[in-house]
Amino acid sequence: MGLQDIKDRIEAEEVRAGRPRGSVELIAISKVQPLERIEAVLAQGHRLFGENRVQEAAGKWPDLMERFDGVRLHLVGPLQTNKVKQAVELFDAIHSVDREKLARKLADLAQSRGTCPELFVQVNTGEEAQKAGLLPADADAFVARCRDMDLPLTGLMCIPPVDEEPSLHFALLAKIAARNGLSGLSMGMSGDFERAVALGATHVRVGSAIFGARDPATAV
Ligand SMILES: *Cc1c(COP(=O)(O)O)cnc(C)c1O
Repeated sequence: MGLQDIKDRIEAEEVRAGRPRGSVELIAISKVQPLERIEAVLAQGHRLFGENRVQEAAGKWPDLMERFDGVRLHLVGPLQTNKVKQAVELFDAIHSVDREKLARKLADLAQSRGTCPELFVQVNTGEEAQKAGLLPADADAFVARCRDMDLPLTGLMCIPPVDEEPSLHFALLAKIAARNGLSGLSMGMSGDFERAVALGATHVRVGSAIFGARDPATAV
């Protein structure tokens, strides 16, 4: 538990998997965490954070960014079309591109702003009804659509079903990314980030194992 422990474990797994040290980015998922826990991780020098709600992030990060230099913020949760403008202004990356309308809006903003956050297409590898993301069978066509819109894609993202072996989902995501020529893989959370690193994750999203358990009353 804690930032240094997670960093050590990621590095050990990079070595074990024969990957270069530092090839995996650790996104500290700070959603619903008390401010003092976030400040403590910032004070240890960490600068890459993730949030899953635009509104919540907009409420706390502008102030923290004033106080700590070099913060990068990733959106890992669902993005409503009416919040896209706010999202591209606040976030350096969006991990939840999952539908045509959202892609179109991002493409329009990229054009008018001349810059675009890093983008990951979310794939619903477990084909769960309640979960966002493209079905695996639809992912190739969607990636092609994004490219038609000149949308720069970094990679793919998945959240495996809670009750299934995550490695199967990580391997499936890696396979879809490879056949689409995408190098980024956003996969792995507190319980399974080491397996994700072994299977090629470039970005792991770790929350509770860094900050401690989230308050269940506010957890989403
Ligand atoms: C909350 C969240 C995480 C982090 O979950 P932990 O189990 O606390 O590590 C990762 N990815 C997404 C999309 C999340 O919403």
